[in-house]
Amino acid sequence: MGPGDSELAGLWICPRCGARLVSRNLWHSCGLYSLEQLLSHSDSQVLRLGRACVAMLESLGDVQVLPQKTRLVCVARVRFAGLQPRKHDLLLSFALRRWLDSPRIVKTESYGPRWFAHSVRIGSLDDVDEELRGWLQESHDTVGLQRDS
Ligand SMILES: [Zn+2]
Repeated sequence: MGPGDSELAGLWICPRCGARLVSRNLWHSCGLYSLEQLLSHSDSQVLRLGRACVAMLESLGDVQVLPQKTRLVCVARVRFAGLQPRKHDLLLSFALRRWLDSPRIVKTESYGPRWFAHSVRIGSLDDVDEELRGWLQESHDTVGLQRDS
């Protein structure tokens, strides 16, 4: 059994869409939506940005990227990042165990003492850069894998 297996222990895997959920009765969109549908009300260039974000999220580790009706969520053991479409750009959000201090952070929210959500505006492919990857990797490794809880 590899580390990937133990990280998924105790989760319920939806037999229809493969979504990882912490309990059987949790609502989820069950594979109904695609990235194209999610971004269908945005400018056409936003889809390119969305694909770049998804590629970066998928490079972080064993993650699931799940488009839903109004947003996209990214799950490792638990949800740690997401995308919110807008008309001309995207908001990419991710949770850390600490607050970041950067002019790129356009919105923050805390959910409890150990879940600090940050949002970054993705308006061009230049925004999907190595600094962002570093933040997302930290988010994946801490919040997403629950490794430090
Ligand atoms: Zn499902």
